[in-house]
Amino acid sequence: MPATILDGNKIAVEIRSEAAAAVKSLAAAGVRPGLAVILAGNHPASEIYVRGKVKSCEEVGIYSEKHTPSANVTTEDLLELVAELNRRDEIDGILVQLPLPPQVASKKILLAVDPAKDVDGFHPMNVGFLSTQRPGLVPCTPAGIMEMLKRSAIKISGQEAVVVGRSDIVGKPMAMLLLNANATVTVCHSKTRDLPAVCRRADILIAAIGRAGMITREFVRPGATVIDVGMNRVTDPVEFSRLFAGNAKRKEMFSTKGSTLVGDVHPEVAEVAGAITPVPGGVGPLTIAMLMANTVKAAKMRRGNPVAEFSRA
Ligand code: NAP
Repeated sequence: MPATILDGNKIAVEIRSEAAAAVKSLAAAGVRPGLAVILAGNHPASEIYVRGKVKSCEEVGIYSEKHTPSANVTTEDLLELVAELNRRDEIDGILVQLPLPPQVASKKILLAVDPAKDVDGFHPMNVGFLSTQRPGLVPCTPAGIMEMLKRSAIKISGQEAVVVGRSDIVGKPMAMLLLNANATVTVCHSKTRDLPAVCRRADILIAAIGRAGMITREFVRPGATVIDVGMNRVTDPVEFSRLFAGNAKRKEMFSTKGSTLVGDVHPEVAEVAGAITPVPGGVGPLTIAMLMANTVKAAKMRRGNPVAEFSRA
């Protein structure tokens, strides 16, 4: 039986409309949540991501502003900007778009963001809150995946979860969220021995690797839930054929555009998985939706309002 497709667009619409409703009720109390985005230098992909974030704020009713220091900005300049945004009460969320220009000490900048406004959830204090199960701001992509699992009624407690990837942005917080939700969690990386065998233990398999179609059928236990975080652009026709042979629709898109977006999971996995996220239209849309949810959450928490904790079992 083909896998159930977990529709990230649909769930993102739900999360965004909940955030919009929360913005309305905050407005009744005279509060408008505000997000400041820092986009330093000229990075075409970052410009596209930031445009999407600002547009989403408009749709949800969140105030947003964009700061665009030049590519030769110094660490000191950025620290000053962050300090000013930390001081301004109408700013609830500060997002530093990565990567920063190479001369900037990125970790210093991320550490300078007020943890109460750290809507990306990257500050060590929020990392600590997550690992000790205290209320805090959780990185958007893994938080979105938890929402997807819960809203799709996928059992987490007591299940075997395998996370491939251990980045600070996706893999590690993902593993922590699953552990907090009572899954038995294994984290894999480039030094893991016999990766396919470890992955086959999973009831829930999360692929956050950054390698097009690496997770093939032999990595997946039949019936498992497979979450594909990867976003890889394939331009090589041989690689395209390995992934999409016989897919006429993709072939047409590939011929027209010269590239296609592929996850870390090979499309053949849809034949064995119980449920799977597509790429595009799976995890991607959830990330921006959770940024909206996090900004609302920060606005409430900063004013001492209790918040419903996302991603708790
Ligand atoms: P990253 O920082 O490059 O981390 C990749 C991880 O994969 C590392 O832990 C690495 O292991 C592991 N890895 C690499 N090759 C491997 C192999 N052959 N076998 C096993 N593990 C391997 O990447 P990331 O930021 O976590 O992102 C991962 C993917 O998710 C990328 O495609 C990215 O574009 C995508 N992404 C998507 C969204 C979204 O909204 N959909 C958000 C964020 C990221 P080591 O630690 O041993 O090097």
